[in-house]
Amino acid sequence: MEVDKELLVRKIKDGTVIDHIPAGNALNVIKILGLPRGKENRMAIIMYTSSSKMKLKDIVKVEGLELTSREVNMISLIAPTATINIVRNYVVVKKERVKIPDYFEGIIKCSNPNCVSNLERETAIPKFRLVSKKPLILRCLYCERHTYREDILRQFGIGR
Ligand SMILES: [Zn+2]
Repeated sequence: MEVDKELLVRKIKDGTVIDHIPAGNALNVIKILGLPRGKENRMAIIMYTSSSKMKLKDIVKVEGLELTSREVNMISLIAPTATINIVRNYVVVKKERVKIPDYFEGIIKCSNPNCVSNLERETAIPKFRLVSKKPLILRCLYCERHTYREDILRQFGIGR
């Protein structure tokens, strides 16, 4: 008999399923998105589950949430393999793979504490260009300093 392992956790009615998160990173994704934000964000976190595409992966299911493009970009920085599934009335209406933007503003801070974008009296928005996806390297457009995945995790208070 075929058992649908995806039904280990019940389907969500309206919300977002963040799938194909690199194994062990579900809690990082939740932290970076500031979830849950309230009672409406009923959540299921599935960690170290097997996948046909990846050996092991994490999944986060959140009810009552549709991500902004900024939030999708945040996810791309720490979970570049993730796919975002928008669910409405139990049906996946949209599915997209996250993509690390070649250029972006804001979202994270430059790793250089003396960078103009980190000075309180300045109003320069951090701007980055993508140098490398794997390993993740971003270059600040003001000071040229590289920012790495570890720097981003540290900014969000994630230990590794
Ligand atoms: Zn900088």
